[in-house]
Amino acid sequence: MKRFHLSQSVRGALTNWGPVDWVNATEWITRDDGTKFTSGSELKAEFLNLLASGVELIPCDRCDGFDPKNGCPGHEGPSRIATGNAFRDAMQNNREISTNQ
Ligand SMILES: [Zn+2]
Repeated sequence: MKRFHLSQSVRGALTNWGPVDWVNATEWITRDDGTKFTSGSELKAEFLNLLASGVELIPCDRCDGFDPKNGCPGHEGPSRIATGNAFRDAMQNNREISTNQ
């Protein structure tokens, strides 16, 4: 059985998030190197850059083979699904969760 990581829609965030949402998202979205964004506007600017470069989705957890347009490719077995803090945070903060199924 394939499991899928959650992902965040870049376009959906840019369409739906208000200033407070961007600030809150800096708590759970980091750069690839793990460092945090210093402001909501900085994070929003990064999302605009991502969308301009063709990235539609970002993973909510570590995901091997993640595709920026189609998301998680799916993984065999039960251990690869997004759980724990990443899942909880995504559920609290996201309005645009895609499970890519
Ligand atoms: Zn995945």
